[in-house]
Amino acid sequence: DLKGRVAVVSGSTSGIGLALARAVALCGGDVMLNGLGDPDAIEKTRADLAAETGVRVLYHPADMTQPDQIEDMIATAHRELGRLDILVNNAGIQHVEAVENFPAEAWEKIIAINLSSTFYATRAAVPIMKAQGRGRIINIASAHGLVASPFKSAYVAAKHGVIGFTKTVALELAQQNITCNAICPGFVETPIVAKQIQDQARTRGMSEDEVMKSVILGSQPTKRFVTTDELAGVFLYLASDLGASANGSHFSVDGGWTAQ
Ligand code: NAD
Repeated sequence: DLKGRVAVVSGSTSGIGLALARAVALCGGDVMLNGLGDPDAIEKTRADLAAETGVRVLYHPADMTQPDQIEDMIATAHRELGRLDILVNNAGIQHVEAVENFPAEAWEKIIAINLSSTFYATRAAVPIMKAQGRGRIINIASAHGLVASPFKSAYVAAKHGVIGFTKTVALELAQQNITCNAICPGFVETPIVAKQIQDQARTRGMSEDEVMKSVILGSQPTKRFVTTDELAGVFLYLASDLGASANGSHFSVDGGWTAQ
């Protein structure tokens, strides 16, 4: 039960972020959505979720490459929704390319969105959580925060960075009733993966079908995608009071990928 709680979920206009925002709303918590996309489609998502769940659902258009916009997103959630209990640093992008051809612009953008935005949002949220005497910071890392795959240098570096950042923040706030943890999903069928299947096919000279079977699900022993409901399960545990002693950890939901 998250009644009376307020969550901010970065990158929640699609995929995992939207599923986690939905999980908060279904448990009675108010939520601030964020992410890119068509404004009419986003407004429909926002209004539908509010109507379905009866909680307050707001949207903030902060671009996760822009620290001042990230700070405004946190301040606006606190001002408009009255609290900030759960921060989910979820926004992320991917670029698949051999390291020697990896465009500097793609490297910088991935580090900014997948790693630095987590720092800026956390930095802005911590004083609010400290004043409340409670907080949950949940970073959506990846199996690629623990192990690597070729052609994903920026993504793997950023996600390993997220796990290091998670541990550090956890230690700093351990006595303030604020926890910081990372969730490490394996492959989940979302738009980011659909695009990757196309990119991997190009980079490796394979058909999209071959990429799906041997590259994507090749690393995942269950041979199926992780579902967003399976991520919501561990997410709700971490967000709830039951998760109070889970701190500075990563929680793999990857069908056994990183057991290999
Ligand atoms: P997605 O593409 O469906 O969602 C990404 C979200 O981030 C979208 O809402 C998008 O609008 C937002 N976003 C992108 N750039 C942004 C920017 N500059 N500013 C604000 N928002 C921005 O992908 P997803 O699979 O749901 O990914 C969510 C997170 O989960 C990412 O951090 C991703 O790395 C991670 N993850 C995904 C998988 C997977 O297999 N799908 C596996 C492990 C980790």
